[in-house]
Amino acid sequence: MTTNMRIGHGYDVHRLEQGRPLILGGVTIPYEKGLFGHSDADVLTHAVMDALLGAAGLEDIGSLFPDNDPDFLNISSMILLQRVAEKLYQERVQVINIDATLIAQAPKVAPYRLDMRKNLAAALGIPVDQVGVKATTEEHLGFTGDGSGMAAHAVALVERMS
Ligand code: MG
Repeated sequence: MTTNMRIGHGYDVHRLEQGRPLILGGVTIPYEKGLFGHSDADVLTHAVMDALLGAAGLEDIGSLFPDNDPDFLNISSMILLQRVAEKLYQERVQVINIDATLIAQAPKVAPYRLDMRKNLAAALGIPVDQVGVKATTEEHLGFTGDGSGMAAHAVALVERMS
């Protein structure tokens, strides 16, 4: 039996700074700091995009959406995710599921998880039950633990249609 299923992994980190909105999975979350970056710095969505692109054998987001390109300054990562979805469609790659983990000491994101899943699913045009979002702390250890940044991991399973 042959299969066209492929798995991909994505990882991203952004610094937390004063004076920036905190946007995770396309949800703006009230907090004293936000993630710094060229785009909206949505670290969770960036990890998801790289997982999908990796699974599809495409170039990563750093290559597709360079951080020195003014077109992408402060752009919503939801728009970038829609562009990734278009690329997958062109490559006849269907998303089977995504599972993402945010690593952050604060704030508590549990109340926003369902909205993040809905946003990610909507941008990709897939049902919400195919998108998982989890969050964990690192017990005050390291750069996530001291609140200087957030990290995210994601895995994606896709299938190339023949
Ligand atoms: Mg990033």
